[in-house]
Amino acid sequence: MSEQTEQTQSGIVIVGAGMAGVQTAVALREQGWTGPLTLLGAEPHQPYDRPPLSKAVLLGKAEDSAFDVDFEGLGIELRLGTEVTALRAADHELDTEAGPVPYEVLVLATGAEPLTLPGAEGVPGVHLLRTLDDAARLRPVLATAPAAVVVGAGWIGAEFATAAREAGCAVTVVEAADRVLAGALPGEVAAPMARWYEEAGAELLTGTKVASVEPGRVLLADGRELAAGAVVVGIGARPATGWLAGSGVELGPDGAVVADAHLRTSLPDVYAVGDCASFPSARYGARLLVHHWDNALQGPRVVAANILAGEPVQVYDPVPYFWSEQFGRFVQYAGHHAGADTLLWRGDPAEPTWSVCWLRDGALAALLAVGRPRDLAQGRKLIETGTPLDPARVGDPQTPLKSAAL
Ligand code: FAD
Repeated sequence: MSEQTEQTQSGIVIVGAGMAGVQTAVALREQGWTGPLTLLGAEPHQPYDRPPLSKAVLLGKAEDSAFDVDFEGLGIELRLGTEVTALRAADHELDTEAGPVPYEVLVLATGAEPLTLPGAEGVPGVHLLRTLDDAARLRPVLATAPAAVVVGAGWIGAEFATAAREAGCAVTVVEAADRVLAGALPGEVAAPMARWYEEAGAELLTGTKVASVEPGRVLLADGRELAAGAVVVGIGARPATGWLAGSGVELGPDGAVVADAHLRTSLPDVYAVGDCASFPSARYGARLLVHHWDNALQGPRVVAANILAGEPVQVYDPVPYFWSEQFGRFVQYAGHHAGADTLLWRGDPAEPTWSVCWLRDGALAALLAVGRPRDLAQGRKLIETGTPLDPARVGDPQTPLKSAAL
């Protein structure tokens, strides 16, 4: 942005005070922006990190997960409890209940909201797990160790089931697809992960649909009935972009803001980052919508650099990365395996630790590591560099992955 812009009162405004919004504000200051900087967040709480919500916070091992950021010291005007209801691009203004907020440059970082189970909304005992308030509501419930039914065997479902078993609950996980993590991993890779549920004492019902939820019980489409002191719905999330309808910001069929390779939106002076935005990846030849923490950390640095340069100087094309902690295992994934042509196992999935590598044209495209963080660290670099690999050595768990480079 130009010096002249820096003199205006509106400056840079960020909507959404989650990981991506906070990191964008911090990156802007780190990269030298000294002008006005406003962060608007709908939630009333001091901005916080979400991953601990399904782990330490849920089990009462951590009180909260507020970010350790000195907003005042950084000169970031933090307006909490402020939901933005509309964007009026022609006026360079946002609408909030407290009145309009002008912007010079706008960053959309409104994240995602969990999908709800039709008919289960508002039923007593039914929970989502996205916000600190959700976790705060669930924590005392878990402490009474009710019979818990988890709808959805995805990442959140698995992490909640882990916590619920640790809290002593009887747990049943109901999944409509024929396997766990159906949206994320192929059946061959997900199959051994299904066994983790059983080992942890949780009952997993795949290929099973919920017909309806009533207070204290879940009725399944096959006629069975499950007693449920608590029901947690973890069936996915959708970009929180409803408020942008009619604003001129292009949204994709998945509801995500359609950003370009520089994380700019279809409107001038408006950027988007984190769970709310998809971006084109030249690396993978696909548009990616990533709902993981690392994306909300890396994207903001690119947004800040492009805003401050006043022109698109940095392309965002990361090797996506995420982790999950479930059933006593540390699961990590890097890359994007769609389009890969070869799948190689490193180790036996019956053992506590193993990895899976996906190759495309002889180079690593993605990697899933269970309890093998070194594979992940080395694999991530190999994906970044596109180094050709020897498949035989990739498939040998005794050989360091980096030694498979040709
Ligand atoms: P969000 O964190 O969703 O933040 C967006 C913020 O914007 C919210 O506070 C919201 O209230 C606010 N907002 C929305 N609309 C408006 C509006 N109109 N006006 C003002 N404010 C608005 N990822 C991993 O890689 N590993 C993990 O182990 C992991 N664990 C997770 C556990 C849980 C329980 C959850 C929910 C997520 C987890 N994730 C994990 C995913 C990760 O937390 C998200 O990818 C990350 O939080 C995305 O950050 P974000 O800032 O884009 O969105």
